[in-house]
Amino acid sequence: MSHPPFRGAELFPKYPWQTMASTCPNCGTVVLIPEISFRAPFKCPSCAQLLSVHQSYFWAQFGAASATSTLGPYLLGWRGNALLSVAIVLLIPASFIVVLIGLLFFPPRLHISEQDGPWTTLKLR
Ligand SMILES: [Zn+2]
Repeated sequence: MSHPPFRGAELFPKYPWQTMASTCPNCGTVVLIPEISFRAPFKCPSCAQLLSVHQSYFWAQFGAASATSTLGPYLLGWRGNALLSVAIVLLIPASFIVVLIGLLFFPPRLHISEQDGPWTTLKLR
């Protein structure tokens, strides 16, 4: 008596970052985090449409990181200049954690990019 192969295992992601993914606004293909270029526009692996990550994604992450690095010590009783300096020190590890959590749970929205270059203007629709 043999067990049937566990088909469900194929549905599980190989890597944690594959659990959440962004989709191409042009063809709807899932674009995985390792395939996304965050600095410059990049081509969709499926339809080759030039895509980019919206700037507000970075600002949202920066805001979340600043909030965590300030609020954490504040709740622990830090105030004034001491709070300010510890917040600056914590900002680096905090942004690292926020970026990781952000990528896992809030994948960036991809937008169609108009031109090839680092200072691309976004075509919002
Ligand atoms: Zn595409």
